[in-house]
Amino acid sequence: MSRIAYVNGQYIEHRRAAVHIDDRGYQFADGIYEVVAIVGGRLIDAELHWQRLERSLREMKISAPMSRAALSHVIAEVIRRNGVADGIVYLQITRGVAPRDHVFPKKVRPAVVVTVKRTKPVDPKLVARGVDVISLPDIRWGRCDIKSLSLLPNVMAKQAAKEQGAYEAWLVDQDGNVTEGSSTNAWIVSAKGTLVTRKAGPEILNGVTRLAVLALARAEKMKIEERSFSLKEALKAKEAFITSTTNFVMPVVRIDGKTIGGGKPGPFARKLREHYIAHMATA
Ligand code: PMP
Repeated sequence: MSRIAYVNGQYIEHRRAAVHIDDRGYQFADGIYEVVAIVGGRLIDAELHWQRLERSLREMKISAPMSRAALSHVIAEVIRRNGVADGIVYLQITRGVAPRDHVFPKKVRPAVVVTVKRTKPVDPKLVARGVDVISLPDIRWGRCDIKSLSLLPNVMAKQAAKEQGAYEAWLVDQDGNVTEGSSTNAWIVSAKGTLVTRKAGPEILNGVTRLAVLALARAEKMKIEERSFSLKEALKAKEAFITSTTNFVMPVVRIDGKTIGGGKPGPFARKLREHYIAHMATA
């Protein structure tokens, strides 16, 4: 069965799927995206993804290409045509196709791409061992809360992490505080045993997994602080971990080569991962 993508109204073979060279996503990264996990044929936390998608469109002043119901139908159809039960949906909406000009084109229809990919779960050995992160200066723009296509600093950071044998890069702002990972949210368990993650704001993407894990931690009556934490504090933390749609909850055991919490995944990360996996069965 060949892979099928949806591109601007058509379902086509993935290897032939293409957008126009004047697509503003291609020229200006003038668009937004979402990545949603498919588990057992269901979209996980779909409502939160819809809300973030619609917010990103509003903030970018891109009109909705179609109703939520219509877009849901397209996504379900791409999943069905690809026969994927476990994987991810990638949904991208750009401002559209128009002659290159920085100013928004007057009459333009947003361009929509939907693809689906079968994915394997993250290697359980990695989860059991925990991963390394490196720290890098956060050189991104001031609206990281928008899930825009403009990911060059994130791409550069992830590549640097990979080249240094690390799994992720934590980005550090000018005050020495961790904002988030290149494609994940960053968490610590402070020396006092409080779960800490940065408050949602323009400096970070408010991860859907972040929101779900916060709700699970609240239900577990864990002590939580949504606040900034410095790299220095992270280095002294009892635990560290990252969250995202593809990683769920992933323990971090080294930051810049320095061991965190004895170099082993801790109980908070383990528990929250278990709760998150259970949550996915009903989300
Ligand atoms: N921060 C950034 C910069 C990201 O790209 C992602 C993944 N899209 C996240 C955080 C995690 O978000 P989510 O839990 O919605 O996948």
